[in-house]
Amino acid sequence: MQTSYAPGRVELLGNHTDYNEGVVLSAAIDRGVTLTGELTHSSRVSLRSSTLGEAVEIDSAALVRCKENEWANYLLGVLDVFKKNGLPVGGFTAQIQSDLPLGAGLSSSAALEVSTAMLLQKLFGLNLDRLQIAKMCRRAENEFVGVNCGLLDQASSAFGKKGHAIFLDCRAETVETIPFPDGVKLLITQCGAPHRLSGGEYNEHRLQCFDAAARLGAKALRDVTSAQLEAGKANLPELSYKRALHVVGENERVLQGIGLLKNGNVKGFGQLMFASHESSRRHFENSTPELDTLVEIARGLPGVLGSRLAGGGFGGATVTLIERDKAASISDALVSKYYDQTGHLAVAHLCEIADGAR
Ligand code: ADP
Ligand code: MG
Repeated sequence: MQTSYAPGRVELLGNHTDYNEGVVLSAAIDRGVTLTGELTHSSRVSLRSSTLGEAVEIDSAALVRCKENEWANYLLGVLDVFKKNGLPVGGFTAQIQSDLPLGAGLSSSAALEVSTAMLLQKLFGLNLDRLQIAKMCRRAENEFVGVNCGLLDQASSAFGKKGHAIFLDCRAETVETIPFPDGVKLLITQCGAPHRLSGGEYNEHRLQCFDAAARLGAKALRDVTSAQLEAGKANLPELSYKRALHVVGENERVLQGIGLLKNGNVKGFGQLMFASHESSRRHFENSTPELDTLVEIARGLPGVLGSRLAGGGFGGATVTLIERDKAASISDALVSKYYDQTGHLAVAHLCEIADGAR
């Protein structure tokens, strides 16, 4: 029997920068997906999720997408990509156990994929590096599951390091780990209100980013500085300008944030998180009243260093950087004040910045 583990992740700074070929800072958290499995010495693949109480059997020699049990495709997709890369893989069993909520924006999907890759490595004696693993898992999600995600989730899960942020350059597809000052924790708070994404918004905002880049004569917003954006403002429709202002600002905040972390300035880093949220709210317009309320309450609590919406927005969760010794009281106060103000029950996850897949 072999065991593998891969964690979920949270975005710290760099909102909506990925498809603009920009930069992002994230962290792996101390929750993730554990797989236990062994070789079947045949082409039989046997998968079981303890989380869902479901099981799937499939022939690895004739891999097809699983329609009844969509979750199996995250594992089968990784097997499929390994096969397409000519790696000698075949039948195996895998039992899934997880303490990551599904679909909560903590990237249980990437954790499941990366954990699968780690298990396959062990069972079939492979020797892939972490970047190869992250890229293959992304490809599995893109091609086999059919979700058009970037590299962030898989790279964070693969490269996570205790006490370190992960810096991903989405254009170069390079990853660096940046030491994070001691004495802090992350509080991830799901707002408990339904997603306010009507469907078209995400894509509409994306197109507005591309429009801004094109009108500024840039390949992507990655190549635009704040000064260039201001100089070209007159040529941009208002919404394209606002979206670009957010993305360009986020790229700059990521680089500033790395500088602050290198100097141990965690307070300054927290301020950038507040600035990031303010920019989401005003310029990218991917916040919601509930997320704004969570950030405003957090801002008023002693021991909170920074807070912002994390991930796509339009609902979902905030990430709050907090002083370790006040963690429990901050978490309790945030949830109870939020309930008083909105009537919504937030779900708070108090997390450490943790190691990646193993
Ligand atoms: P997120 O990655 O933010 O959690 P996604 O929608 O991308 O949300 O991925 C969630 C999907 O991943 C689930 O619907 C399920 O198919 C799969 N998944 C994640 N964790 C598990 C698990 N423990 N058991 C089975 N499937 C899982
Ligand atoms: Mg996911």
